[in-house]
Amino acid sequence: MFEYQAPADLLKDKVILVTGAGSGIGRTAAITFAAHGATVVLLGRTLEKLENVYDEIEAAGYPQPALVPLNLESAQEHDYIELTNTLDQEFGRIDGILHNASILGVRTPIESYDPVIWQQVMQVNLNAPFMLTQTLMPLLQQSDDASVVFTSSSVGRQSKAYWGAYAASKFATEGLMQTLADETSGICNIRANCINPGATRTQMRSDAYPAENPQSVTAPEDIMPAYLYLMGKDSATVNGQSLDAQ
Ligand code: NAP
Repeated sequence: MFEYQAPADLLKDKVILVTGAGSGIGRTAAITFAAHGATVVLLGRTLEKLENVYDEIEAAGYPQPALVPLNLESAQEHDYIELTNTLDQEFGRIDGILHNASILGVRTPIESYDPVIWQQVMQVNLNAPFMLTQTLMPLLQQSDDASVVFTSSSVGRQSKAYWGAYAASKFATEGLMQTLADETSGICNIRANCINPGATRTQMRSDAYPAENPQSVTAPEDIMPAYLYLMGKDSATVNGQSLDAQ
């Protein structure tokens, strides 16, 4: 497991956007960032799930979050511009983005991979993080220390049979991160890195490995040290890296 002990106020006064914040790793990351002082912007496609996370954060007495229902599969350029304008009016800056939302697609050979599903996976896993990062760039530039964290996977570094669009999208995510990191290096306070959560107990993991006992897999709470490290000031000089949370 990634070793890091975050100070309780690590993310005090930070504004951090988390995609896929309604469930799985994104939900736990949003609550963890809020618990460390951040104002989190909860983005996801299912309003009810986002509201539950919102209520949990509010009930715990953490900074009041913001809620952004947005389907990253169908979102258009004007949706991203509207979001940016809203966040600009509300906060004037963004200190972090956790690009976490993804879909698995299907586990099937390339030979029979449904091209429609291929496009959906690319849209959610790759194109949406690109659009979101590009549109929010002016707000990231307003931060003293902005951290953009993309979510990768072990099959985004070495693929395996039947991982299709998911693996391709994660390889491309690593490439997007490296390109952005090199462009911002030394010229502004924006850093970009990837995180590979490793096998984690979520719906996606169950969908990918239906025969596995979920209790044998690491809980999302246990991988949070790496997420906190990448979001906070202790990783201020880390740029263009791909970290393993486990
Ligand atoms: P998950 O349980 O399936 O959660 C995915 C989240 O993304 C959900 O909140 C989901 O919203 C959201 N989402 C999906 N499609 C969306 C869309 N079109 N628009 C907006 N939000 C959307 O997955 P997870 O396991 O937590 O995975 C989180 C990240 O870690 C992903 O990038 C995944 O590739 C990566 N990862 C996970 C593992 C693992 O073992 N779990 C391993 C390696 C990498 P709904 O809840 O509304 O569906």
